[in-house]
Amino acid sequence: MPNIAENLTQVRDAIHSQARTAGRDPASVTLVAVGKTQPARALREAFAHGQRDFGENYLQEALGKIDELSDLPITWHFIGALQSNKTRIVAEHFHWVHTVDRLKLGERLSAQRSPALTPLNICLQINIDDETSKAGCAPDEAFDLAAALSKLPNLRLRGLMAIPKPGNSKAFVELARLQQEIGARLSLSLDTLSMGMSADLDAAIAAGSTLVRVGTAIFGERNRA
Ligand SMILES: *Cc1c(COP(=O)(O)O)cnc(C)c1O
Repeated sequence: MPNIAENLTQVRDAIHSQARTAGRDPASVTLVAVGKTQPARALREAFAHGQRDFGENYLQEALGKIDELSDLPITWHFIGALQSNKTRIVAEHFHWVHTVDRLKLGERLSAQRSPALTPLNICLQINIDDETSKAGCAPDEAFDLAAALSKLPNLRLRGLMAIPKPGNSKAFVELARLQQEIGARLSLSLDTLSMGMSADLDAAIAAGSTLVRVGTAIFGERNRA
């Protein structure tokens, strides 16, 4: 069993020191604990040690944990590939979606999000460096998409998200620049740059990440799905 409390402390320390090194306020970086393939009790333990934001990739698995942990005030982030026939579950059960990469997904999420709830926070996923991956919109499509997504009721466009290829830290700088250009050109106040995972936290924070998604460094190796 990994020592979740100790791992959390180490990840928080790493975020803190990297933010300081970059001349940034450590409080400007939110840690999302990614629990895919991990049991609900592991998430509960992380919660007991102060973790409040959790990310999940697989909807059926996530629903089970959201139910099991419904006694805890958790902020749930959906970070997996989203099919348009699954948007209702996400709109009803999550607080954030990081993987919106086409208008149709946004339109469905907005239509399916109850106006009685707080708006669903979304990030526009950008395919920043991987032409072979289908996830994420092309950087040159991002302006039009951000403009359209920002107008949808029941959603709040918070910023951009990307999963660059391992070792490509230049991609973090490019994503940060794209976010600034979109914000300036469209007069949008985007406050979230969702980038950085266990292996590339430091480079992401140096480039301006405000939200890192960390799984293995907290929970240990993933269980086989
Ligand atoms: C699994 C996953 C993570 C966490 O990855 P680790 O390398 O375990 O930290 C972060 N973001 C996304 C989108 C993921 O699918």
